[in-house]
Amino acid sequence: MEEQRHIPLPLKYRPNNFAELIGQELMAQTIKNAIKLNRIANAYLLTGVRGVGKTTTARIIAKALNCNEVSLGNSEFQEPCCKCDNCIAISESRSIDVLEMDAASRTGINDIRELIDGVQYAPVSSTFKVYIIDEVHMLSNAAFNGLLKTLEEPPEHVKFIFATTEVRKIPATILSRCQRYDLKRIEPNELSDFFKGVCDKEGVPIEDGALKIISRSAEGSVRDGLSLLDQAIAYSESNISEDLVKDMIGLNDPVEMLNLVSLLMEGQTLGAIEKLNLLYDGGADPLLILRDLIHITHYLTLFKVDAAESLKLSHTDSEFKAFEELAAKLQVGTLSMVWQMLHKGLQEVSDTFSPISALEMLLIRITYTADIPHPNELIEEISQAIEEDDSITSEPEPAQKKASTPKIDPKVQEIIDFFPGAEVETLDN
Ligand SMILES: [Zn+2]
Repeated sequence: MEEQRHIPLPLKYRPNNFAELIGQELMAQTIKNAIKLNRIANAYLLTGVRGVGKTTTARIIAKALNCNEVSLGNSEFQEPCCKCDNCIAISESRSIDVLEMDAASRTGINDIRELIDGVQYAPVSSTFKVYIIDEVHMLSNAAFNGLLKTLEEPPEHVKFIFATTEVRKIPATILSRCQRYDLKRIEPNELSDFFKGVCDKEGVPIEDGALKIISRSAEGSVRDGLSLLDQAIAYSESNISEDLVKDMIGLNDPVEMLNLVSLLMEGQTLGAIEKLNLLYDGGADPLLILRDLIHITHYLTLFKVDAAESLKLSHTDSEFKAFEELAAKLQVGTLSMVWQMLHKGLQEVSDTFSPISALEMLLIRITYTADIPHPNELIEEISQAIEEDDSITSEPEPAQKKASTPKIDPKVQEIIDFFPGAEVETLDN
């Protein structure tokens, strides 16, 4: 049998044209229209989180501009051909007319000067000289200024494509000269469908739950998801099962995490600490546990406001059911308070020499706070306080004024402030 060289999935399934680009239909259509109408911007700015496909998109735009089969202003234009010399050279990052620079490692004015040195010379074998600058926000001020001169009045044969994860760090003078596209994170269900297609092409059976977990862990990035899928294929003997993927990612089992959340909300300190240590001993990272807790608290709150339907796309049926059952037992006020406390704890847990002890302290704090009276009990107490307040007031006053100055124990007030969701308006009833 002939040995075949393994091509990593992210490379093998990297989109070659607009049609293969997942989840960015609007941007693709706008750029294709610009080419059809020959109204191409001098500079494009692609923004979006890491792994969302900015560099890939930049290369597709470069191909569309320089493909031998594309003539600008041609209303028939659909896609770069991906077969001509120019297309192939761009795909392989070796086109002499498409110059790429990573501003993360080359931030200085000299790097920019070197890059745009030949800006006035016409392209060698294509229509345009395309300059792709990745992570453009990393450029120094001097480098931005150097770039600005060219950007203000670029020769007709020059196009710029910038990519960045942090658009706020780019000077307004640069921004105002770019056509900006925000590449959005790809939805879990879109990722799931795409990964299923990849598995079919690779001839690898995969369970639905496994697909959902991979899509969820990819956090909107096709590349990250494909890397995980590649790993899962290598890890499995034949079929990619849900358990295998959980095991591989080192994922905290959502059901286990739900138990921990349940203990937290019930104020069961010892139980929560024991559960936490069990997870920690099993190899879970304290920061990841905390993030999971934050996610789960958020999800549970969505159930309370009937907005959880979308979770079906990224969670297995058993996970969804477990969420639903726990949510039924909880109050929005408690969930909201616990979420805030967990969120505030993120910094503490990530900034310490001992994340596990910081997380332990945080959970203890939460269980003790969860132990304080429930919002409804508080409201009753407050109502009583107001009634008592009424009975000692000798002269009758307008109702409005009374309601605005109830005497509430400062300690109770402190607790009320903790419950943003508490319905204080029931006071009037
Ligand atoms: Zn071509």
